Amino acid sequence: MYNLPSLDVVKTFSSVAILTSGGDAPGMNAAIRGAVRSALHHNITVYGVQRGFSGLLQDDMEPLNSSSVSNIVQRGGTFLKSARCPEFHTTESRALAANILQRRGIEALIVIGGDGSLTGAHLFEEETGIPVIGLPGTIDNDIFGTEDTIGFDTAMNTALDAIDRIRDTADSHERHFLVEVMGRNSGFLATHVGIAAGAEMILVPEHAINIEEVALQLVTSHRSGMGSSGIIVVAEGNKPDLTHNIAQQLQQHGFTPHVSILGHIQRGGTPSGHDRVLASCLGAIAIDFLLAGYSDIMVGVSDGAVVDVPLDDLIRYRKGLDPELLKIALQLHK
Ligand code: ADP
Repeated sequence: MYNLPSLDVVKTFSSVAILTSGGDAPGMNAAIRGAVRSALHHNITVYGVQRGFSGLLQDDMEPLNSSSVSNIVQRGGTFLKSARCPEFHTTESRALAANILQRRGIEALIVIGGDGSLTGAHLFEEETGIPVIGLPGTIDNDIFGTEDTIGFDTAMNTALDAIDRIRDTADSHERHFLVEVMGRNSGFLATHVGIAAGAEMILVPEHAINIEEVALQLVTSHRSGMGSSGIIVVAEGNKPDLTHNIAQQLQQHGFTPHVSILGHIQRGGTPSGHDRVLASCLGAIAIDFLLAGYSDIMVGVSDGAVVDVPLDDLIRYRKGLDPELLKIALQLHK
C-alpha cells in the first residue's frame, strides 16, 4: 500500500469529466472506477467521455453512476474506449473542447493516458484554465516523475508468461529466440522482462546494439556448453523491423534465431492485483487533489508515496532507465 498525502478540501465541484486516451493499458478501468466512486462520495457527478479527446470534441459523454463502474475492475482495456485524436494538437480544437465542457457545466477534466495524452492535457489546462488532473496509464512505464504506471506490471507479467512458454520450445529445439517486447523509446519493459525471464541477453535503446558483440556472446556461451538455446529480449525501438533486422544480421554470423514479436498481447488481459490497487488509489486520489485545489498535475508514485508531478515537468524531462538496473541486466548476460 502507498503512503497517501493528506489533502484539505478547499474547492467544490459539481461535475467533472474523465477520459482514457492513447494506448490502452490494463488497470484503466480500475482507475475510472476509483475516480467515479470517490467523486460520488463527495457528491460530484462524473461524465465518462468516450474515445478520449475525439469523443470530447464530439460531445460524446454521459454521467456515470456507481453501477456504471461495477464489474469492471478486473477487465483489461478501457470501457470508455480510447483513441488517438490528431485534431487535439491544435489550439482551436482545445478551445472547442473547453466550450463543450462549459456548456455542460463540467468544471474539471481527468485524463488517463501516456505522455502524449498528458501533454495534450497540460496544453488544454494552460490555454483554457479548466483544471486538469492526469493519471499515468501506459504499459511502457516511461513517464517522468512516477516510478510506476497503470498497466506496466500486468504487461510485464503477460510478456513473462509468453517468454516462459517460448523457452520450452527454445530448449527442446536448441534454438535461440529473439523476443520483441513493446518500448519504442524506452527499454524499461524489456529490461524488467529480461531480468525476470532470465534472458540470456537484453537489447534496449539505451545501450547501443553491436551485432558483433551479440554474436560473440552467443559463440562464447555455445562453446562453454551453456548456450545451445536462449532468449534474447529486444525492445521494439523506433526503427521498423528492428528485431527482424537483428535476426538477419545474426545469420551472417552463423546463427538462425527465431523471431517472436509479442505485440498487442502485452496490452490486453486481466490487470494484475498490483495494477488494480495502483489504479484504484490513483483514480480515487485524483478527486482529492482536485478538491484540494490542485490542477495541471499528474498523480504518480515515488518512494512508496502517492505524489503530484507538474505536467509541465513531465513534458520537459524524460524518464531515463535506471543505469544501475541496466548494469545489473547486462551483468546477468551469460
Ligand atoms: P499516449 O498518450 O499513449 O502517449 P499518444 O502519444 O498517441 O498516446 O497521444 C494520445 C493523444 O493525445 C493524441 O492522439 C492527441 O490527441 C493527444 N496528444 C498527444 N500529443 C499531444 C500534443 N503535443 N498536443 C496536444 N495533444 C496531444
